[in-house]
Amino acid sequence: MKFNTKTIHGGQHYEPATGAVMPPVYQTSTFAQTSPGQLISGYEYSRGGNPTRTALENALASIENGARGLAFSSGLAATDCVLRMLKAGDEVIAMDDLYGGTYRMFTRVYKDSGIKFHFVDMNDIDRLKSLFNENTKLVWAETPTNPLMKLADIEAIGKITKDKGVLFAVDNTFATPYIQRPLDLGADIVMHSATKYLGGHSDVIAGALIAKEEQLGEQLHFLQFATGATLGPQDSYLVLRGIKTLHLRMQRHCENGQKIAEYLASHPNVKKVYYPGLENHPFHDVAKKQMQNGFGGMVSFTFNSGAKADAIKFLEKVRVFTLAESLGGVESLANHPAMMTHASIPENKRKEIGITDDLVRLSVGIEDADDLIADIEQALL
Ligand SMILES: *Cc1c(COP(=O)(O)O)cnc(C)c1O
Repeated sequence: MKFNTKTIHGGQHYEPATGAVMPPVYQTSTFAQTSPGQLISGYEYSRGGNPTRTALENALASIENGARGLAFSSGLAATDCVLRMLKAGDEVIAMDDLYGGTYRMFTRVYKDSGIKFHFVDMNDIDRLKSLFNENTKLVWAETPTNPLMKLADIEAIGKITKDKGVLFAVDNTFATPYIQRPLDLGADIVMHSATKYLGGHSDVIAGALIAKEEQLGEQLHFLQFATGATLGPQDSYLVLRGIKTLHLRMQRHCENGQKIAEYLASHPNVKKVYYPGLENHPFHDVAKKQMQNGFGGMVSFTFNSGAKADAIKFLEKVRVFTLAESLGGVESLANHPAMMTHASIPENKRKEIGITDDLVRLSVGIEDADDLIADIEQALL
């Protein structure tokens, strides 16, 4: 099955009892048994499994080409589940440019866990290799990154982790499987904030893990079941409905993203545009290699003046774009990373990685590109 068919049919069947084409929202915590331990259709208690969640999990496995999908109550709950596979003494190698909440979890929640985290620019493959030792258990990458659109070469890193026998997880939130499928390129686990493009309508908080191998999926399912951050049936239904139009939405996100990146790059008030689809993007070659069908809907930029005041003025003036955190919905959003999404990263660290005070991040939606560009034009005046 091709991707555009999988988003709609992958792992799905009509509901056997009634023929309902969409899975009912099984709003139930528990399931009757005919005799102790004799289950009617395999379901026992909804933390362990619920048919609406199963429908979503099968769709997730299908679109990412994995053996097992798992749906969580948030993206961070999904990330936390992966970290629970580790123990004191283990080491993790992570990208030096991560979603702020992921960085906060690694550096603060797991601070006294005995697990050691190394943060590295993964484009420096020699430096990356030098950080492996017998305690290394996990490599965590995000590509493209938030908000600077740095890339990591998934295939190159996957070769190293395979060689070293270390788990490799990729946060695929920004690209989605419409654009890149990390499990096909050598990753073992894909993580999503399904709050973003998979859900696609800014109406649900949800997360996902997809394991390449069944055994790894089973291990993660045990941890999810035993710690409890599962996605409820109503929210599972919403994410599943979102996935059915993922390919159509992503196509427009990519088209609009490219147009807006090119418009910004030609604007006299704009200094730098961060978008992997621009030829002068420092990782455009990696982007062309591992991203297909386009380069996504996330675009960041800075001002020629370098002034924070200009960024704030822009964000106050936009009308079609809404000033808000989050991304990946059908509507366009604009955000000031230093004061909003990335405020949890200490200022000196922010400056070091390039999250300057004049940086604006756009989540380009699926509206008419002319209206979006006109909005940006009036806000840049
Ligand atoms: C939003 C986001 C997360 C966290 O997901 P939640 O659903 O908010 O918990 C993780 N990674 C990336 C890249 C994100 O954008």
